[in-house]
Amino acid sequence: VKLSLSTLDALPGEVSRPAYARADLSAGILHFGVGNFHRAHQAMYLDRLFNAGQSRDWAIVGAGVFAGEQKGRAVLQEQDWLTTLVEQEADASEARVIGSMVEFVEPADSAAIIARMAEPDIRIVSLTITEGGYFLDSDDNFDPTHPDIAADAATPEQPKTVFGMILAGLRARRDKGLAPFTVMCCDNIPHNGAVTRRTLTGLARLSDAAFAQWVEENVAFPNGMVDRITPGTGDRERRILAEDFGVEDGWPVFCEGFVQWVLEDDFPLGRPAFEEVGVQFVPDVAPFELMKLRILNGGHATIAYPGGLMDIHFVHEAMENDLIRAFLRKLEEEEIIPMVPPVPDTDLHEYFDLIETRFSNPKIGDTIRRLCLDGSNRQPKFIVPTLRDALKQGGSIEGLALESALWCRYCAGTTDSGAEIAPNDPAWDRLVPWALEAKERPEAWLEMKGIYGELGADPRFAEAFARWLRHLWAEGTEATLRAYLGSG
Ligand code: NAD
Repeated sequence: VKLSLSTLDALPGEVSRPAYARADLSAGILHFGVGNFHRAHQAMYLDRLFNAGQSRDWAIVGAGVFAGEQKGRAVLQEQDWLTTLVEQEADASEARVIGSMVEFVEPADSAAIIARMAEPDIRIVSLTITEGGYFLDSDDNFDPTHPDIAADAATPEQPKTVFGMILAGLRARRDKGLAPFTVMCCDNIPHNGAVTRRTLTGLARLSDAAFAQWVEENVAFPNGMVDRITPGTGDRERRILAEDFGVEDGWPVFCEGFVQWVLEDDFPLGRPAFEEVGVQFVPDVAPFELMKLRILNGGHATIAYPGGLMDIHFVHEAMENDLIRAFLRKLEEEEIIPMVPPVPDTDLHEYFDLIETRFSNPKIGDTIRRLCLDGSNRQPKFIVPTLRDALKQGGSIEGLALESALWCRYCAGTTDSGAEIAPNDPAWDRLVPWALEAKERPEAWLEMKGIYGELGADPRFAEAFARWLRHLWAEGTEATLRAYLGSG
């Protein structure tokens, strides 16, 4: 059955569908970055709420800044903005149709997006625009020199970036006498609300200091930690959905059963009753996000590059490899977990045990290539901070240095078997020559200040990194992992 509002009743019985009609909903949130994760997470929580008969004035309006997003929008439009979400555990899968999105503004049409944000019904603007989308330098400070930022600063009334558009939306509201919406970041970035505030006010300051001050004083940016492994959608997913569930959906989302959202309660214009459907509200998200970024995202990075270099396709296949699995556990137990400060009501070792099981879930179909993506933006958030702490405290860094060397080796663009790696980072063209130079002169890699900052000059790290990188080039990934596991 081809998914649409008019075919909902005809869907096979095991597919759950909305308990609400479209007419029961009205918009409350405008969301930038309608990709896979948003539809598995925020849109799913809202669907749960709407099913329970609550918060039905908080439906989602999609938005995007790139013309390329028109393709995804067209697919969703054809199915009345509905998405089939397939939640997969090792022993069972469940499919449900999610109807929490009610509109999608034409992507890249900044005038239309700004006008929509300036309507009184929009009380939250949320974002999943990837870790690389926040215009940060190596110290996680706002980078005013980025050409897109310079362009938006020069013509604030015709913005191209998310931040330029949000500023124009806030300004339009202020001119109309409307209170500002809350800006809710849902990307994997430490202190994501604070980072979003810095980028937004940083951009505003470039053209209008008084307005920047007004944003600083009047707009709320709650921090949040989000978690649910959500791979990209491809033909495999569309086929499984059609064969196993009888639903034809042009852009379904597949994810794991596990889901978590820890959020600070700072929403001046109100918010959906998320606490009714499992969202944890806490006074300070910082300990939760640090745990997640370092243990889970750092863990993903740890298995990604050896998996990539050994030509492994799926994440669960990497977890079936004894060397990679043992590398992950040893690195987490000896170097990552000891650097994570205590988290309320959480045993960090149990948290990791659950992650090991989640990574091993064979149903998810998450790919090693997706985990290898965008290392230049991810290493500084998921690995380098642990390394910095371990160096400062005199802890072991052998595994972290090996992880860094594996990333460098991967960026040389070929796997151990000699297969070519297709570009997998926005900075790929710059990374490959550095990685090739590092084969002869390992310290070259650590000169990337944007990634390593001052750590490149740390003799203990530089020595271990160089040793592991040479080992990788000389003997390959398997032998190098074996050497690491046999040591200490
Ligand atoms: P995706 O590729 O499906 O969607 C990303 C969306 O962001 C797309 O709509 C894209 O056009 C838009 N985008 C990309 N760069 C942008 C930029 N510079 N400015 C504005 N928009 C931009 O990816 P996804 O799986 O939805 O993941 C998105 C983000 O969600 C991740 O980067 C991460 O921060 C967070 N997240 C993802 C997962 C996951 O498992 N996929 C889990 C937790 C958190």
